[in-house]
Amino acid sequence: MTNIGILGAGQLGRMLALAGYPLGHRFRFLDPASDSPAGLLADHLALGYADTSALEQFANGLDVVTYEFENVPVEAARHLEKFVPVYPPSLALEKAQDRFVEKSFFQELGIPTPKFTIDLNSSFSFPAVLKTRRMGYDGKGQSIVHSQAEVAAEKAVDCILEEFVSFDRELSIIAVRNKSGETKFYPLIENHHRDGILRLSLVIGNVSAELQAQAEEYATRVMSALNYVGVLTIEFFEKDGQLLANEMAPRVHNSGHWTIEGAITSQFENQVRAVCDAPLGSTNPLGVCAMVNLVGTLPDETSILKIEGAHLHLYDKAPRPKRKLGHITLVEKDVATLNEKLDEIRKLYAEF
Ligand code: AMP
Repeated sequence: MTNIGILGAGQLGRMLALAGYPLGHRFRFLDPASDSPAGLLADHLALGYADTSALEQFANGLDVVTYEFENVPVEAARHLEKFVPVYPPSLALEKAQDRFVEKSFFQELGIPTPKFTIDLNSSFSFPAVLKTRRMGYDGKGQSIVHSQAEVAAEKAVDCILEEFVSFDRELSIIAVRNKSGETKFYPLIENHHRDGILRLSLVIGNVSAELQAQAEEYATRVMSALNYVGVLTIEFFEKDGQLLANEMAPRVHNSGHWTIEGAITSQFENQVRAVCDAPLGSTNPLGVCAMVNLVGTLPDETSILKIEGAHLHLYDKAPRPKRKLGHITLVEKDVATLNEKLDEIRKLYAEF
């Protein structure tokens, strides 16, 4: 039994605890929001990350601390490291919190990225994507710009300008490494976004072995450089058979929710195993899989549950535009059946 502390008590924290309880572990959350999705499941300290006495109260009696989102202040992770091991290492947070630091880090490791600059006056080819360096997620804090004049009009502060990539598709790799250095990878996931928000993830065997090997090699470089422990996600654009790294998340990821029912071991269980230095579980898929995000509104619950094989997950969050409220996973034997089930969901859920 390990006492595991989690920074952040959102849906990812909730799914981590749900995966860790069968292994006999105990959980405690720290999250300033008092009505967090994970709050029902375990002790929840509703105090701020900048409050060192709250951090110490949280750490008391814990064996290990991990986090469910990458915008945990680095200082909070560093402070906790004085009392208890924190995984993934705080260096991973540092690299992932700033898009410029992150893309420069990819380049240092020889991992291709879209072209980028933080010199907003430099000559750059358009269209381009202007993004805040920090705190942007789900398409927030970014806009497409078509000229230098448009960049100037944005009066952007602390931004990165990126080449607009007309990619063939978006893919993510979810990797996991435990303290002993054992490493495993899930198959590359094909992701479909709308308005910058993930809507659909597919694992349907439509990725070449070469691309998979390339993604695994890139993830290995990142994990080795950071002496990484835990689950790591890297999001890529695929363009003409090449991978360009867009960003990484030092945590379990929305594009990996299908692993709960669709893989032998879920990303959540493997994160728990990794930080407890247990052997990692198999990452093999159990069929062809799809994960549909429920964003902003919810479909009729009963109708979804009538779809044979549909696994409904609700995060206990109040509906709000663009908010992730839940997801549905399908695991089928073949792509034709998977598509039929996806069509059934489409008829029931206008947001999809
Ligand atoms: P991000 O916040 O960087 O993950 O961006 C959210 C989504 O916006 C991505 O998943 C892409 O669909 C799109 N996007 C971000 N950056 C670019 C880019 N440089 N070129 C084209 N599309 C992008």
